Amino acid sequence: MYFSTGITCCKVVENFLDHSFARCRIAQLKVKYRYMVKPSEIKERIEKLRQQVDDLRYRYHVLNDPRVTDEVYEDLTKELVELEHQYPQFMSPDSPTQRVGGKVLEKFEKVKHPLPMLSLNNAFSEEDLRAWEKRTSKLLSDLQQKKLDYFCEVKLDGLSISLEYENGVFVRGSTRGDGIFGEDVTQNLKTIQSIPLRIKDKRKIEVRGECVMLKSVWEKINKQNEKEGKPLFANPRNAAAGSIRQLDPKISASRKLDFFAWDIATDLPELKTHQAEHKYIQELGFRVDEYQRACKNLDEVLKFISQTEKVREKLAFGMDGVVINVNDLSLYQSLGVIGKAPRYAIAFKYPAEQATTILKNILINVGRTGALTPLAVFEPTFVAGSKISKATLHNMDQIQRLDVRIGDTVVIQKAGDVIPEVVEALVKLRNGKEKKFVMPSKCPVCGGVVEKRQIGEKAKESSTAYFCANPKCTAKNRRGMQHFANAFEIMSVGPQILDRFKEDGLISDAADLFTLKQEDISGLERFGEKSAENIIKSIQEHSKVTLPRFIYALGILHVGEQTSEDLANHFGSLKKIMAATLEDINGIENIGPVIARSIYDWFNQKENIRFVEKLIDNGVKIEVAAKPSSNKFSGKTFVITGTLDSMSRDQAKALIKQAGGKVSESVSKLTSFVVVGSDPGSKAEKAEKLGVKILGEKEFINLVK
Ligand code: ZN
Repeated sequence: MYFSTGITCCKVVENFLDHSFARCRIAQLKVKYRYMVKPSEIKERIEKLRQQVDDLRYRYHVLNDPRVTDEVYEDLTKELVELEHQYPQFMSPDSPTQRVGGKVLEKFEKVKHPLPMLSLNNAFSEEDLRAWEKRTSKLLSDLQQKKLDYFCEVKLDGLSISLEYENGVFVRGSTRGDGIFGEDVTQNLKTIQSIPLRIKDKRKIEVRGECVMLKSVWEKINKQNEKEGKPLFANPRNAAAGSIRQLDPKISASRKLDFFAWDIATDLPELKTHQAEHKYIQELGFRVDEYQRACKNLDEVLKFISQTEKVREKLAFGMDGVVINVNDLSLYQSLGVIGKAPRYAIAFKYPAEQATTILKNILINVGRTGALTPLAVFEPTFVAGSKISKATLHNMDQIQRLDVRIGDTVVIQKAGDVIPEVVEALVKLRNGKEKKFVMPSKCPVCGGVVEKRQIGEKAKESSTAYFCANPKCTAKNRRGMQHFANAFEIMSVGPQILDRFKEDGLISDAADLFTLKQEDISGLERFGEKSAENIIKSIQEHSKVTLPRFIYALGILHVGEQTSEDLANHFGSLKKIMAATLEDINGIENIGPVIARSIYDWFNQKENIRFVEKLIDNGVKIEVAAKPSSNKFSGKTFVITGTLDSMSRDQAKALIKQAGGKVSESVSKLTSFVVVGSDPGSKAEKAEKLGVKILGEKEFINLVK
């Protein structure tokens, strides 16, 4: 529904308020507000907007059923933000605009749970479950004759969370902690879109559930961390836990966490079964496990377990079993709790596949940032369908925690698509010949001094890491050169060719590539005239890059593509970045103190300054970011997936930006177009699912022209 002028808009303001999916431009609204002078009218409008925005959120994030275009959602949100800004007296902490408003905290407060958060006992087999049923039935038969029925749900592998509501408003959320005290992570939980900030029930209610991270998001974070030389998360659960315990809510928000409710801890007398609780949780606006099922007896439970095991790999979230609850809540009191675990529920766990093998050695891998990563080398063995001979040990902390020694018999584990990990050293099998691993004090590649550093922005999640301090380290240099060539998209020189050039003394660093001549190469053994010509041509063709690409290519610790982009956008020129003070860099949004320090240090080392100057002297050109030459794509966001035939991705990105558009890495409902080349990834599927318009390469080129 469109309004042609602001005046029309005012005249139909009553209709407008009642029309659910009305569209109106902010400019037109300004005219309207002059007519809506009474505070009560403004307040009512704000209240209605909040409900509308929240309803759209619910449809999208809880029901997975977007019913409205992104523009409408954005427009309504924009209007709400504007009104709340103009009339701060009507601000409210449960407004949908307040999801990412929290301040960076110093630390998390400890809070006492209204009711203890119990943990479940585990069952690993049918026998375990039968024995559990026998025990509970016996306990009950002493009191009353009762045949048990059950309610089952998928056990997602995440972090248990308690959410407290008062007067229908989300007031506090906390981690399990030790079950009695948890940490107050309210503002991070508010950033999770599937958690309602308001519910219709005004009683004091505590809802519990699992905070989880998509497997795909976890993979992305690990890839990014690997690029930037940061430690990796062993599984999505660790990544979710790390994200919810961020002191800066903006970081939590960026991790796209999700929440599945599994219990109402509060005793609501009208709810007689666990099944009824689940139904009510859904009515209150929470997302629940979609496979949940009531089972009449244990045989049905076993059937449920084997059926869910089949869908396990397909789930977007990690899951490690099934929770079986006695359905009748009136029995909970009589069944009671032993220790910290209730008798009325049990977790059936799918075994993560494990195997034992001998740890033959621990090698050190030196990354391009100089980080030393210990790598376990095993006697090859099969786990979960794949042959495993190596696994990362992540860092020294991990080796110490596991007390794993060279020569140990170790248990390795692989769960689904999670990377293999060492879970335990079988110490009783030791014969005394095992050797403790010591982090070398000299770089295994160049012999340079190894430095110990704390990494991670905050003390709580930081870990000790070791770095080769030699700026000329050949491992760093070699990896750094590969990274450089990839960043410049000089595809004709792979790692072997770079090694060869170096061995033959043609180059000492990446800057030397740009002064190579055809005759330098064609003289080498196994290089013909033709290949020499191609290599030189591709180096010359790619000697011109954008500023973000240039920065990214330098391989500065912690500086990935996004940070490079942020730096370029903020400073605008290489000169300004090189002259920036630590405070300047610290002041950039999204750049924390550790990253800022790393950038500042890099640009203030003589060797690095010389390297940058050498690149420029040798003919590398930094393209000045073109001001958008048109605004054809203004407000439009593009995602590119697959390989384009007629241009590189960077060229495509540049074309989009020149026309005023934005380029994003991931597909969401906010994406306007997905450009699909050959061999597209999962982004194309996702676009289809979300109904985002898909463009082939030809269509894209036509659109640009
Ligand atoms: Zn080194």
